[in-house]
Amino acid sequence: MPHALDRRQWLRHSGAATVAWAAASGVAGCATGLTAGRDPAELYGLGVASGHPLPDQVVLWTRLLGTTLPAPVPVRWQVALDEGFTRIVAQGTETAEPAWAHSVHAEPTGLQPATWYWYRFEALGTRSPVGRTRTAPAPGALQPLRLAITSCQRYDVGHFGAWRHLAREDGLDLVVFLGDYIYEYVSAATAVRPHLGGLVRSLADYRQRYAQYKTDPHLQAAHAAVPWLMVWDDHEVDNDYAAWQGQDLDPAFAATRRAAYQAYWEHMPFPRSVRPTDGQMRIVGRYDWGQVARIIAVDDRQHRDVQVCPRAGRGGSNTVTARACPDLFQPQRTLLGAEQEAWLAQQWGSQHAFNLLAQQTLMARWSWRDPAGPDGGQFWTDGWDGYPAARQRLLDTVAQRRVPGLVVLGGDVHANYVSQVKADYARPESATLGAEFCGTSITSLSLPQERVDAARAFNPHVQWARTDQRGYVRLDVSAQTVQAHLRVVADARDPQTALATQARFVVEAGRPGVHAA
Ligand code: FE
Ligand code: CA
Repeated sequence: MPHALDRRQWLRHSGAATVAWAAASGVAGCATGLTAGRDPAELYGLGVASGHPLPDQVVLWTRLLGTTLPAPVPVRWQVALDEGFTRIVAQGTETAEPAWAHSVHAEPTGLQPATWYWYRFEALGTRSPVGRTRTAPAPGALQPLRLAITSCQRYDVGHFGAWRHLAREDGLDLVVFLGDYIYEYVSAATAVRPHLGGLVRSLADYRQRYAQYKTDPHLQAAHAAVPWLMVWDDHEVDNDYAAWQGQDLDPAFAATRRAAYQAYWEHMPFPRSVRPTDGQMRIVGRYDWGQVARIIAVDDRQHRDVQVCPRAGRGGSNTVTARACPDLFQPQRTLLGAEQEAWLAQQWGSQHAFNLLAQQTLMARWSWRDPAGPDGGQFWTDGWDGYPAARQRLLDTVAQRRVPGLVVLGGDVHANYVSQVKADYARPESATLGAEFCGTSITSLSLPQERVDAARAFNPHVQWARTDQRGYVRLDVSAQTVQAHLRVVADARDPQTALATQARFVVEAGRPGVHAA
């Protein structure tokens, strides 16, 4: 339990008195000459972060870096109501262990709802930079939720100018990150800023890749500005992986996934309770923002059936016609896994103005050819189009339960797609169940705009489709409306790039669907 900490006590524990504090903490190896102050830019070189806010708690994260770190290291954390830490409301000590990359996952509880807090760490006589975080409103509260959906920050194809702008967004409460935090690839010679190392496979590889991404100052600023709510997609592990199968059908893929999941937890503000065990980690969850919004986060990678009709000798995705791949429509195939499907069916809020489904990819059907033509349409098998029966089960549940204010959030395809969620995507006249915002990438590249434009007519439920710009989507959610702003940068190769708004949309409570604003 947190408790008020006398400020003089904290000051006594820092600086010159650190040895005494470390010794008193009873952790071996910390009073043996390694407690002299370190360079904070090195020790906290990956920044600080917070995440997964509830009305009374939030997870605080950092990871200690250094060549001579003792094992283990006690890490003090503090939460205050002010940036100067004169009103400290919670504090405690966590142990950073080398087995978990000296990561710190602190979990202050007993916080006040809908409140801004500042937090910092202290280890080895050295204080971290200060981060800011916010708790969710109390149940029933009507405070608005201002969030940004973000995804796909491939480091070697661009700079994080989008994060620089996001960190300065006015009044933002929350970042929702929808996957592809790292990319596992080796960089091409033409890279804007090359990845360190080769194709990521081992625990050391994944740790190095996360560390490289997290050295970016604009990404650090976005983490330090607001709490994040996160899900992963494929590139946190391997392109197009499905459950225990990698796209190259490597028999050692289970070891890759175990390493990847461990490094993911080590670097993200998830609680200790979901620390992965044997290559399994629970990232799903439900986050209420008073009565205004319920956010349901799902996992489309860990439990999915493998993609059907892959290219010869490979796993992973393909683009196939309905006629050539009847297996696509097998009714039992699942993207979330049977257990998660059943769980999700129980999570929809009936008392919330909006239900936000935080998932990874485009949910709207997207056919590259005319579905009424002889080949029955042409679909990409890694997204929901590869699992149409599972999508229909989800949509049927939403329709049956009359889920209020459905807004599907996604990423993955590196493009802004704004769509009507339809009861049956094959029948444009079927009921509109909700709205979908599939947001563009922070940096990752996409298909040519002309290709998408050529297929627009086959997908009338899609209201907006732009592949050519990078950025994020800001969503201002009140009990009455969701105001969406598609933010885009002028040039993702330039860290100082300008920001613009590509388009605006609105969703109204009690009126399913999306409309131009
Ligand atoms: Fe991506
Ligand atoms: Ca992806």
